[in-house]
Amino acid sequence: MKKALSLIIASVLGFTLLTGCGSSASKPSETASGSAGAAQSAASSGAAGAASSGEKAETASVKTVEDGVLTMATNAYFPPYEYYDGDKVVGIDPDIAQAIADKLGLKLKIEDMEFDSIITAVQTGKADLGLAGMTVTPDRLKNINFSDSYAEGVQLIIVKDDSDITKPDDLKGKKIGVQLSTTGDIYASQDYGDDNVEKYNKGADAVMALIQGKVDAVIIDREPAKSYVAANKGLKLLDTSYVTENYAACISKDNEDLLNAVNGALKELKEDGTIQSILDKYINSK
Ligand code: GLN
Repeated sequence: MKKALSLIIASVLGFTLLTGCGSSASKPSETASGSAGAAQSAASSGAAGAASSGEKAETASVKTVEDGVLTMATNAYFPPYEYYDGDKVVGIDPDIAQAIADKLGLKLKIEDMEFDSIITAVQTGKADLGLAGMTVTPDRLKNINFSDSYAEGVQLIIVKDDSDITKPDDLKGKKIGVQLSTTGDIYASQDYGDDNVEKYNKGADAVMALIQGKVDAVIIDREPAKSYVAANKGLKLLDTSYVTENYAACISKDNEDLLNAVNGALKELKEDGTIQSILDKYINSK
């Protein structure tokens, strides 16, 4: 079930802690029944990458919410994948979406919303795709298609410096903070029981609860975890990962043409090194 314990070296990132303010989010629309392993195989067996000439050939056949525009839904409180720089949403996902839009001859528009609303926005035609450090899971695949994966995600555990929690097993009976409807929430609720999991609208709110002693640990994706630990004294990351998973773009089941076009673009962007250089720009070089 839980995969690949790997040593994670928490490097210091220059991202500002985005505390944000509480806003409402709807209840999780799915139950946790999948495993990271299943999610991974689902991701790798996803739609076959469409052959693409790279010359904006797909544009004619791709239908988007707004003509000539690729509308991306995201939750811009997930550094370095997406975060605000002034009033602009920047990060790995906006850069990747821009590169995809360029390949498809479309303009990119970014819509910021609660993480929990992204899949619905894509399903109901408010956005063309969701790019939000979103993990491919079997339950999500029931409602939405995922592109081929473009990055690996890892769920990590943040604790206070003086915590007696040193491994995932120590979380039994402890209060765990998570971001609502994320895989951290899904897996923690499954493994440690709903009663032990406190769900917050934003990852930053879960981290604040840890600082204030309202929870004993936070389970959250590695890259935002690194930035939270770097931005707040007295916190540390456990060096064992909790779950390893795949990030991909979610796209409506009704828009297979777009799925194929995005997979074609991603294939080229992987082959020519663009994806890796975007990841390096925000992660490895910090
Ligand atoms: N990777 C996690 C998920 O898909 C968290 C994503 C996020 O908070 N943006 O559930």
